[in-house]
Amino acid sequence: MRLTIIGCSGSFPGPDSPASCYLVEAEGFRLLIDLGSGALSSVQRYADLYEIDAVCLSHLHADHCLDVCDYSVARTFHPDGPKPRIPVYGPSQAAVRLGRALAADPAAQDGRPGGGPGHGITDAFSFATITPGVMEIGPLRVTAALMNHPVETFGFRLEHAGRSLAYSADTGQTGALVELARDAEVLLCEASFAPADDAAAAALPEGLHLTARQAGQHAARAGVGQLVLTHLVPWNDKNRTLEEAGQAFGGPLALASPGLGFVLD
Ligand SMILES: [Zn+2]
Repeated sequence: MRLTIIGCSGSFPGPDSPASCYLVEAEGFRLLIDLGSGALSSVQRYADLYEIDAVCLSHLHADHCLDVCDYSVARTFHPDGPKPRIPVYGPSQAAVRLGRALAADPAAQDGRPGGGPGHGITDAFSFATITPGVMEIGPLRVTAALMNHPVETFGFRLEHAGRSLAYSADTGQTGALVELARDAEVLLCEASFAPADDAAAAALPEGLHLTARQAGQHAARAGVGQLVLTHLVPWNDKNRTLEEAGQAFGGPLALASPGLGFVLD
């Protein structure tokens, strides 16, 4: 299993990275985890757009899913003809919400403008609704668990050939992430908040995002082999994010960056 960071900018694309997107490959199967704003551009540096086998969306915030709309255009209107549908695994309402984002007709319910010409999101993708539990996606065993975020959001654990990788998606503090990531070799964990001091930390909203220190605490409690901090918001100081996570997690630690790869073989 190989993980490649495509985009790791939190909440909106940054100058050096698209929003959230991760490529996971195993046995030639290629899965995109999230496809946030700007990510479709960078995906093409690491994979042929038409050799992606499936997409898995953690939640429907724009910075995690919106480039699915552009990807539908790329698949539907290729000069050689429409590409075969591929599965998109996502929260409930993914097809409707992304369909509305794509369609010119705001009345469209399934992404297909009512009665008129045009194309819908389901021309390019077959949608499958994620529920908590285990899914088989190609050769990957994917466990989904609900995280602590204002909208329905799934963290994922991906396993292949005895190796394991966990992804927090967006979340506030939750024991569900600790359980999901238990003993994983790599935890890709969000670290969105960077409070200036303890008073600012105490005033942060709950159930939204983690600080780097909290990411480190979750990684330590889960006993992961390595922590990779992601969802790095452009206005934060990355060095400080790394330092604060290191105060709570004593194992190998890295900041996500586009192109960074991890081989779990
Ligand atoms: Zn979010």
